[in-house]
Amino acid sequence: MTDQGRKRATPNILVTGTPGTGKTSTCSLLASATGLRHINVGELVKEKSLHDGWDAELDCYVVNDDLLCDEMEDMMRDGGNLVDYHNCDFFPERWFDYVVVLQTDNSVLYDRLTNRGYMGRKLQNNMECEIFQVLLEDAHEFYNVDIVRALPSNTIEDMSNNVEILSGLIRAWGNNT
Ligand code: ADP
Ligand code: MN
Repeated sequence: MTDQGRKRATPNILVTGTPGTGKTSTCSLLASATGLRHINVGELVKEKSLHDGWDAELDCYVVNDDLLCDEMEDMMRDGGNLVDYHNCDFFPERWFDYVVVLQTDNSVLYDRLTNRGYMGRKLQNNMECEIFQVLLEDAHEFYNVDIVRALPSNTIEDMSNNVEILSGLIRAWGNNT
């Protein structure tokens, strides 16, 4: 339900998880399969400068939550969005009909992150984020548990399964009231 008490024609889905768990790959496939709009939040922040500069220590932009949410508000209103981001604690709860948390085994994630060139503190922070299930805990804290789903994302087979499961949820959305 939206805050107006009327259901969106197509759901909004937040796909979250530690960097490297497969959010962007999964959303790309899911967007092709369903026609939903893939919003890669990291790219949007960069493109539209929705940040307060670069944090050299953490090696990432300091996202301006207010600018970002203002930018996304109109897109979110009508539904049909796949929001791809490694944080979930500042989006309005009312935006999302499902919250998906992708999870990856430590050894697999370690290889993906080192392949991406992560090292030192950045690598360690992200590994700890996954080990302590920070995104799943946040999702449970900030959203209704009934709409939160954790999905494994270790193999290509997992990814196809996840795309299948989520396509099913999207297709079924119009059928139940
Ligand atoms: P994120 O957007 O969460 O940071 P990406 O989608 O960019 O993650 O994936 C990171 C890397 O891991 C990419 O090289 C991608 O191909 C690979 N990858 C992601 N998910 C899987 C998976 N389920 N099985 C195999 N490889 C995957
Ligand atoms: Mn990504």
